[in-house]
Amino acid sequence: MSTNVLVTGGCGFIGSNLVRYLLRERPDWKIVNLDRLTYAGNLENLAGLEDDPRHVFVHGDVCDRAGVDRVLAAHAIDAVLHLAAESHVDRSIQGPEVFVTTNVLGTQHLLEACRERGVRRFVQVSTDEVYGSLGPSGAFTEASPLQPSSPYSASKTGADLLALAYHHTFKLDVVVTRCSNNYGRYQFPEKLIPRMVVNALRGEPLPVYGDGQHVRDWLHVEDHCQGLLLALEKGRAGQVYNLGGGAERRNLDLVKGILAELGKPESLIQFVTDRLGHDRRYAIDPAKSRRELGWAPTHTFEQGLADTVRWYVEHPRWLERVLSGEYRNTVTLTPRGR
Ligand code: NAD
Repeated sequence: MSTNVLVTGGCGFIGSNLVRYLLRERPDWKIVNLDRLTYAGNLENLAGLEDDPRHVFVHGDVCDRAGVDRVLAAHAIDAVLHLAAESHVDRSIQGPEVFVTTNVLGTQHLLEACRERGVRRFVQVSTDEVYGSLGPSGAFTEASPLQPSSPYSASKTGADLLALAYHHTFKLDVVVTRCSNNYGRYQFPEKLIPRMVVNALRGEPLPVYGDGQHVRDWLHVEDHCQGLLLALEKGRAGQVYNLGGGAERRNLDLVKGILAELGKPESLIQFVTDRLGHDRRYAIDPAKSRRELGWAPTHTFEQGLADTVRWYVEHPRWLERVLSGEYRNTVTLTPRGR
């Protein structure tokens, strides 16, 4: 469908995996990657793409309306995959304001620019956290009520509703995707899986919130990328699509699995005070995405987790540079703003 695609947040975890995925699956597309390079943006996630003319990195902020407009015009953008966000729940509890600025206002700026420029499709990449928390049974469908618990999920809910309102009011062609917890390579080590891997490798305690019985539904990042491409190409305008990995795991079991993978003792597990407002369980019903988009995850959780743990073990330099902060000194990939 589209040839010139804007990916926002393409230097983050999912965004960098998505840039690579799109270049592989749609070799004739041009991918423009707009990223502000916050602490979560890392140009080293895109190592190897330096000389690929199909990928253009633009250092910019989705809150900069004029800058966004320039990017849409300069690259004749057909479609947008909007991933740029503040994404870490704990940080949203410590400082919610930037979450509203980036996730809500940034999305609105982008929507407005897309409307004015006549962008043909806008995919709002969101999270199952907008639905709040589940009891021991059941799963979120697209019709589940929106009951976000954290400033992060509240800001994503605001962005989703704005995107859908732009469809309803202005007829902008919008599709919203909501996925469960992703895992895979290039994830910033503040998130559960890489953080636990790092601590286990160092022989340091692995902090587990509360009783460790919180359940998450894990989705391999490549399966998520497949879902995003399908939503872009086949989704119906104005619709929401849930993407879930069908791999519900209790946090404690996940952490034990990582320790087993690394041959480290469970005595490293340390229970710590629970996160404020911590959602107990998420699970996604992906039936609509399977039916309408033909989406089906291909990774099993056990294999995917083993591969992911091995990736971090085999990329100590990437990990060390992220942990030391040195990655922030990497300032060029392709010439900025080309
Ligand atoms: P991430 O934190 O790893 O990356 C976010 C990226 O956005 C970074 O590269 C950062 O520099 C960039 N960014 C932040 N503010 C920006 C701004 N104002 N302008 C331009 N770029 C900016 O996030 P992620 O885990 O890759 O998540 C990507 C998207 O997917 C987010 O919208 C998130 O809400 C959603 N999501 C993530 C998960 C998950 O498990 N990681 C699950 C569901 C949904």
